Amino acid sequence: MKKTADIVIIGGGIIGVSIAYYLGKMGAKNVLLLEKDLVAEGSTGLCVGGIRRQWSTEVNMHFSLKAFEIYLNFKDEFGVDPEFHQIGYLFLSTSQEELEILKKNVEFQNRFGVPSQILTPEEIKKEWPFLNTEDVFGGAFCDTDGYAGPYEVTRGLIGGARRHGIEIFQNTEVISIEVEGNRIVSVTTKVGRVEAPIVVNAAGPYAANIGRMVGIEIPVKPIRRQLFVTDAFHMIPPSVPLTIDQKQNFYFRREGEAVLFSGPQDELPSFNLSTDFYAMVETAEKATHRVPVFEETNIARGWAGLYEISPDNHAILGEVPEVEGLILANGFSGHGFQHGPAAGMVIAELILNGRAETIDIGPLAPTRFTEGKTIKESLTAFRD
Ligand SMILES: Cc1cc2nc3c(=O)[nH]c(=O)nc-3n(C[C@H](O)[C@H](O)[C@H](O)COP(=O)(O)OP(=O)(O)OC[C@H]3O[C@@H](n4cnc5c(N)ncnc54)[C@H](O)[C@@H]3O)c2cc1C
Repeated sequence: MKKTADIVIIGGGIIGVSIAYYLGKMGAKNVLLLEKDLVAEGSTGLCVGGIRRQWSTEVNMHFSLKAFEIYLNFKDEFGVDPEFHQIGYLFLSTSQEELEILKKNVEFQNRFGVPSQILTPEEIKKEWPFLNTEDVFGGAFCDTDGYAGPYEVTRGLIGGARRHGIEIFQNTEVISIEVEGNRIVSVTTKVGRVEAPIVVNAAGPYAANIGRMVGIEIPVKPIRRQLFVTDAFHMIPPSVPLTIDQKQNFYFRREGEAVLFSGPQDELPSFNLSTDFYAMVETAEKATHRVPVFEETNIARGWAGLYEISPDNHAILGEVPEVEGLILANGFSGHGFQHGPAAGMVIAELILNGRAETIDIGPLAPTRFTEGKTIKESLTAFRD
């Protein structure tokens, strides 16, 4: 373990490794990434891998467009196939009100060049006859959205970071951060102390714990979401889009030969990662309501992951006024996988060039909550 570093990144999920990669690519030397467990073992490795460009806020659009470009060229840049399956994202609305929101969003997204479109219930039924559309008023569909492999993507980013000389220490939990005056001077881990003037909090659902180490409140809550996977099931086609039933807060997509179902999401924060029997029953009910033929399958396994929810469901990025040298890359609120590559790029720019150049991260400033500048995303009820 090194005794000094220029920059320490806490957390080896997609956000931390992406920051590490872009710091290295931009020429930073002496950067350490510290991960308490193994890389990608946290929310990143437990997520669904969804990548979409259907949003209602400019800042989310910018993050998605930049990340989408990176995902499309991922193999060339990183030498690893990210398993980006562009099967499309379909949002179903079950009320006129929801449909009007989708219509406004599609108009907004089209202005950014995103080929999303509104479909009628008849068009949806014709394309995917296995969907129950009795209660559906319409949908929004973008056929080039999809999902990628969290492990493949993280592996690519880590390989890239290492090639640029970034050092990654696993099983290295940060237990305290030392501040002199209001300036960061070092972090202490279970295996030693590293002096560093810049520390990046990329601890995902544990972001608030890192904040407490320097006496600040970071408003990120860990919220459990359960997921279930069926046995091999061939009664719906492999090309089915990631389909979101907004009202039921339910979605599904293909997972190889099986189908992956989103399960319930907790109301209260916790670090609980268990799966519950009742959650499986609830999920089966929602799944068979939307796709009656799912009655023919079985749930083979399940797991749970933690969202890292901010008060306005947008990321919290940048410096904090209270502690010089601390940079936050937190609160992605269920969208961190798809925004991760772009987030890494802008945080590296902020650290090395003094400002994020590729995307204006001003709207995501940590100070926005106390300044009353929170952001409203009309699809916040849905988390990937
Ligand atoms: C069920 C589910 C489905 C999801 N689906 C999608 C999706 O389809 N698309 C999408 O974009 N997003 C999705 N997400 C959200 C996505 O998983 C997260 O936004 C993203 O993984 C956050 O990445 P991260 O690097 O910030 O966090 P993590 O991957 O959790 O990484 C943080 C790391 O910090 C480490 N750490 C914490 N404390 C310390 C410490 N003291 N010292 C050292 N290391 C520490 C942790 O061990 C962890 O590995 C989903 C989330 C869940 C729960």
